Amino acid sequence: MKGNIDMTTGKEYVASVFEKVKAQNSHEAEFLQAVEEVFNSLVPVFDKYPKYIEENLLERLVEPERIVSFRVPWVDDKGQVQVNRGFRVQFSSAIGPYKGGLRFHPSVNQSIIKFLGFEQIFKNSLTGQPIGGGKGGSNFDPKGKSDNEIMRFCQSFMTELSKHIGADTDVPAGDIGVGGREIGYLYGQYKRIRNEYTGVLTGKGLNWGGSLARTEATGYGAVYFAEQMLNARGENFNGKTAVVSGAGNVAIYAIEKLQSLGAKAVTCSDSSGFVYDPDGIDVDLLKEIKEVKRERIVKYAEARPNATFTPAGGEKTVWSIKADLAFPCATQNELDETDAETLVANGVLAVSEGANMPSTLGAIDVFLKAGVSFGPAKAANAGGVAVSALEMAQNSGRTSWTFDEVDAKLYDIMKGIYENAAAAAKEFGQEGNLVVGANIAGFLKVADAMSAQGIV
Ligand code: NDP
Repeated sequence: MKGNIDMTTGKEYVASVFEKVKAQNSHEAEFLQAVEEVFNSLVPVFDKYPKYIEENLLERLVEPERIVSFRVPWVDDKGQVQVNRGFRVQFSSAIGPYKGGLRFHPSVNQSIIKFLGFEQIFKNSLTGQPIGGGKGGSNFDPKGKSDNEIMRFCQSFMTELSKHIGADTDVPAGDIGVGGREIGYLYGQYKRIRNEYTGVLTGKGLNWGGSLARTEATGYGAVYFAEQMLNARGENFNGKTAVVSGAGNVAIYAIEKLQSLGAKAVTCSDSSGFVYDPDGIDVDLLKEIKEVKRERIVKYAEARPNATFTPAGGEKTVWSIKADLAFPCATQNELDETDAETLVANGVLAVSEGANMPSTLGAIDVFLKAGVSFGPAKAANAGGVAVSALEMAQNSGRTSWTFDEVDAKLYDIMKGIYENAAAAAKEFGQEGNLVVGANIAGFLKVADAMSAQGIV
């Protein structure tokens, strides 16, 4: 194979593939943003390993192995027929079965699922577990729906999805809008259709195949990653103030772990606005409002004497509050260049991304130039999928581990991810840049597997 070698250096090769990707996916802004961030990091890899250019590895990697898009019809409580669109993007199975969450949110489209699936390839590789990359979801909006409506939607969604997944093929999990309740309905329907009790989904309930510490894993993991970044600066959590966005699965457990390690998290948010509680967020109250009652975040401010609520859409955001640490844990592109400048002006030391791609490319640039320790999502939030892989291992072995066992493994995995990303950044001449480090470390393992498996 000499196809691509004559024409290029690493820089030219990466640029030429990106031009093709842009031309073929011009309407997929989020996907292109995720691809550009990764591609920018990989130039030195292609200079060092020109065989990957010969094998045109990048162009193969950026094309999903399979995309399934399907109709999801269901009947609402008024007896009316509703139709949503479902997706599963099976991006890469180079190092294991496809693995990645399902997102139910009105904004879901093919671009968003592809960006998430692409990121997932590198994230899953970084965990050191044998899992490939995938992602799925629907433009279904769970807000305001009854439990019965959620169940009927999940059953219809799984009726089609069940044809494409399996414990050794593709193992979905939760993401935005998909928590324990939805995984339960999805699993029930899968079992009914396939008549098998296997670990086809992760995030299951503890009595029926779930892993202890899975619920906590992404949030805890983002905090363990931040701890590594702080330690490298000779710092720790004691007495530090943190701003956190979101009030879902990731945000709640990031706040819980921050408080238990001696920091004070003072904010959280949902799409209606944000709460600032100078006394530190009361995690039990937050769980009661969000996990049990499923209410809006303003209820938190109403229940706490010194907390304030700021509606969304104004100038002030979570990122306007002065803090040493920032944890964006809501959604993509929620932290832009201006927000990053505000955080830097307020003296932020470290940013650990709990959400996927929450910082824009411009924001990342501001952090890196200012010497802020920046933990990119594919490294910092990999704890969720890492514990999902541990759930798969427990399911295969028909066993279950204690909370402390899983938490200890999670801690080691996050430490390992930090160390690998930091080492790769150093090896490729960009010491301290964990964006470059995570992209390269994640890529090399997948590239090596693809290379060994031939042109497939
Ligand atoms: P949840 O659905 O539990 O919570 C999402 C939170 O973010 C909610 O508070 C939601 O508010 C808020 N939010 C979502 N969209 C917006 C928006 N457009 N503007 C403002 N707020 C918004 O999801 P998770 O906590 O599971 O996921 C959060 C992020 O973390 C996502 O980026 C996800 O991909 C990522 N992630 C999750 C993992 C997991 O294990 N759960 C693993 C790795 C990454 P509202 O309710 O008002 O919409």
